[in-house]
Amino acid sequence: MSFFKYHNGELRAENISLSKVAETIGTPCYVYSRAAFEHQWTTLDSAFGDYPHTICYAVKANSNIAILNVLARLGSGFDVVSEGELRRVLAAGGDPSKVVFSGVAKSVAELEFAISNGVRSINIESTAELERVQTVAAALNATASIAFRVNPDVDPETHPYISTGMDKAKFGVPMEAAFAAYQRAAELPNIEVHGIACHIGSQITKTSPFSDSLDIVLTMVKRLASQGIQIKQLDLGGGLGIDYQGETPPTAQEYVNAMLDGVAAHGIDLPIAIEPGRYIAGNSGVMLTRVEYIKHNESKNFAIVDAGMNDLLRPSLYQAFHAILPVNENSNVEKSVFDVVGPVCESADVLGYDRELAVQADDLLAVMSAGAYSFSMAGNYNSRLRPAEVLIDGETAHIIRQREEFDDLTRGESLLPEQ
Ligand SMILES: *Cc1c(COP(=O)(O)O)cnc(C)c1O
Repeated sequence: MSFFKYHNGELRAENISLSKVAETIGTPCYVYSRAAFEHQWTTLDSAFGDYPHTICYAVKANSNIAILNVLARLGSGFDVVSEGELRRVLAAGGDPSKVVFSGVAKSVAELEFAISNGVRSINIESTAELERVQTVAAALNATASIAFRVNPDVDPETHPYISTGMDKAKFGVPMEAAFAAYQRAAELPNIEVHGIACHIGSQITKTSPFSDSLDIVLTMVKRLASQGIQIKQLDLGGGLGIDYQGETPPTAQEYVNAMLDGVAAHGIDLPIAIEPGRYIAGNSGVMLTRVEYIKHNESKNFAIVDAGMNDLLRPSLYQAFHAILPVNENSNVEKSVFDVVGPVCESADVLGYDRELAVQADDLLAVMSAGAYSFSMAGNYNSRLRPAEVLIDGETAHIIRQREEFDDLTRGESLLPEQ
């Protein structure tokens, strides 16, 4: 189901014309659909039926507080990877008792903040981190509820930069070390063993990597139980892929069924948490950009647009594909094949190679599937202002983040004192 569709030749977000949005807000800008976010979240949530579960939306996919608030109102939990993300969740009205805290390098200050706010689980990634959590919790006179993020060494068959569960990855505790780590955790006075977590990668388009890693996790759960260590929650991570370019990932129901079948096969009925990011946010937003110039070289045509890799990094970072559509379908120019490139002084600043488009200068383009890992990865390289973000809610377009201003660029910088 798409919330971004043509109507009389014009691309819309829900019922709102994207050219109107560009006229009032300017470009580049991100446009999200509240209905799309809610639809994705609800589809996943209802796929569990009455099986006990928590959906912990991965904040790093899209961390605008208006988006977090929309999801919190549905009852969502959250997966955070920094104090900054946890502070966003709290600012958005999220419930810390539904928050899991992931990440390989949690600092003392971050752990203090998370433990004192009562997060459901600190997902620990090394034995050194376990000792640090114990020290911090003891100093706060508190008990830290933890899981180990284990590394099942399963190939998610996705881009290497978004594979996290193989033995060469920096993430997680290797399976062989996990058992001893749990035994150590069970001895520590300020640690409460709560769960087991795993997250093997992102943009996964089949169910088998999820089933394979679940199988390994459940075997560990039984082994721990035989030693008197009771796991109370399975945190099965995120990673469900979406359609960027005709991929056919499992449906929410197929994905959830794979998990429910896995637990049933092991005779385990523990509550499940999942940490979807891209599935909820990816196709819930687009980035609008305007063509500044058309340029022809001997071998290439370029559509040079006003958004670049600083605004949307995925194509440059992962060779990721985003469909690029004209906002107005009814063009009177002929189609040609273009590289759609940005203003940034880097050859990698390409939003899309070899796109057949009927475009001329001043036309608007929509970079599709830009709801996840898009604005949240944006930066200021080349001293560019980060774009505005707009959330469509029924008949209204709300600005949920102002376009940055030039004063924002130098905030916190200062000159050396005069002689
Ligand atoms: C990034 C991340 C996720 C979300 O991954 P998606 O592919 O966007 O669903 C979930 N859990 C952890 C620990 C992550 O790092």
